[in-house]
Amino acid sequence: MRRFYAENLDASGNIVTLSGDEAKHISRVLRMCQGDELLLINGAGEECTAVITGFNEDSVTLEILSRGISSAEPEVRVTLFQCLPKQGKMEVIIQKCVELGIHRIVPVISKRCVVKPDGRDNKLTRWNRVSQEASKQCGRAFVPQVTEYKKLAEIDFSAFDTVLLAYENESERNLKACLRSLEEKPRDAAVIIGPEGGFDPAEAELIVQRGGVAVSLGRRILRTETAGMAMLAQIMYELE
Ligand code: SAM
Repeated sequence: MRRFYAENLDASGNIVTLSGDEAKHISRVLRMCQGDELLLINGAGEECTAVITGFNEDSVTLEILSRGISSAEPEVRVTLFQCLPKQGKMEVIIQKCVELGIHRIVPVISKRCVVKPDGRDNKLTRWNRVSQEASKQCGRAFVPQVTEYKKLAEIDFSAFDTVLLAYENESERNLKACLRSLEEKPRDAAVIIGPEGGFDPAEAELIVQRGGVAVSLGRRILRTETAGMAMLAQIMYELE
């Protein structure tokens, strides 16, 4: 069943009105009809079955038939702290990590980031749109947020059960061994990925001092846009 994004799923009882792109897609592109059923998601994990009850000039009215919590959400909530990669890679990282079940994405500024945000860009708006589209496409009812930029040295990781630093210079401990040594399944896990230039050793040390665990992702050096999704896939495989 097709899925559409509806922000106000609970504000108006069981009657929902869709307008804008979602309404256009239903009426003009898909040419759906009165009586057709579809799924409505609110981006916060709720998923409703609804039936089309009417069309207006630029809106579609629906009646909710059933409400539920999406089963597409992983139990472990993984937050990706992604050090800013060079132009154009962030969209791919967001899209793939949303498909793989990421909970939230934090763009991070670290010492070796080539790209530094200038505060005027509208990247965050675009990145959140990428997240919403990827979430809809893969059947999630939850839209992971891409947050404001954070400086690596200023991030407080204390709210996380597990903080995993993918560190290219780590040769002792690998991700598999680390995950298998966990006493219990984490509810909130942080994953930290460096930029193309990697981590400055002092930065890595600071994260470890703050409770991070440096792990190797294997003997090959992955691109920054590969490392996060590879790590997330392994975490989901091991913990879900
Ligand atoms: N400039 C670094 C070097 O030459 O060693 C490579 C950095 S890599 C392109 C970007 C980020 O991906 C790293 O900072 C790390 O977070 C992650 N990464 C890539 N390969 C990894 C590996 N084999 N083990 C751990 N982390 C890795």
